[in-house]
Amino acid sequence: PLAGRVAVITGSTSGIGLGIARALAQAGADIVINGLGDPDEIERVLGELEREHPRRRVVYNGANLMNGNEAAGLVEDAIAGFGSVDILVNNAGIQHVSPIESFPPEKYEAIIALNLSAAWYTTRAAFGAMKQNGYGRIINVASAHGLVASPFKSAYVAAKHGIVGLTKTVALEGAEHNVTCNAICPGYVWTPLVENQIDDTAKARGITRDEVIRDVLLAAQPNKRFAGVDELGALAAFLCGPGGTSITGTALPVDGGWTAH
Ligand code: NAD
Repeated sequence: PLAGRVAVITGSTSGIGLGIARALAQAGADIVINGLGDPDEIERVLGELEREHPRRRVVYNGANLMNGNEAAGLVEDAIAGFGSVDILVNNAGIQHVSPIESFPPEKYEAIIALNLSAAWYTTRAAFGAMKQNGYGRIINVASAHGLVASPFKSAYVAAKHGIVGLTKTVALEGAEHNVTCNAICPGYVWTPLVENQIDDTAKARGITRDEVIRDVLLAAQPNKRFAGVDELGALAAFLCGPGGTSITGTALPVDGGWTAH
């Protein structure tokens, strides 16, 4: 259903972004991959996607989205190279866990820049062309923390609530032009981001890794399992396809019942 569409997925060299990139390529889209990290690892991921989807164009853009101009440039480069950006997935994100009184200001600024402002810049750069083409699908990977809070995640929760607000505004501006904008709100998904915060959470709460997994992470998730990145990919592909045409301005929980509490 997405043949001929061009998708830009931020933060897609790992985790959820990579899962969404795979699903969109599977549905027929050409894809622009983005993310930072070890160049050999990125090369390996790119090669894998090309082998899995030999009929799709797959390119990598290493824009650092901490910077608004680079975020806009990611979209501008894709429009210059492919002729359009039809699907924009704002997924890149980082986390820092700390009580607010000792939360490092530079971590706060970085989380707001990447988890919130980058999506504003990419959307701003993509929106005009989407409106003109009469088709656009913008998906913001927010979080259950875009809907409810947890202690020690002040920057992350602020940014994720912010991106849900951005989602609603963009949805209203795009509604008459077949440009939809939705937020996906995962609970815990097993990715490097989650794995890396287990030690910090253990330290902040003074408990062991196993206790963090059982009593903190999955305690909030009634179905007691981590979601897989393929589940997020399937939802993103659905929102971009014909079934997603009237779905806009929503924040869709994919959280095993967490936000039903
Ligand atoms: P991840 O750490 O596996 O991947 C993050 C991606 O962002 C990587 O590709 C990384 O290279 C990229 N990135 C980091 N800094 C960047 C920068 N400055 N510029 C460009 N790219 C950069 O994380 P993940 O778990 O897949 O998370 C992806 C998104 O999903 C995030 O927005 C996160 O907040 C959200 N989320 C994750 C979970 C979860 O349980 N894993 C739950 C809810 C929401």
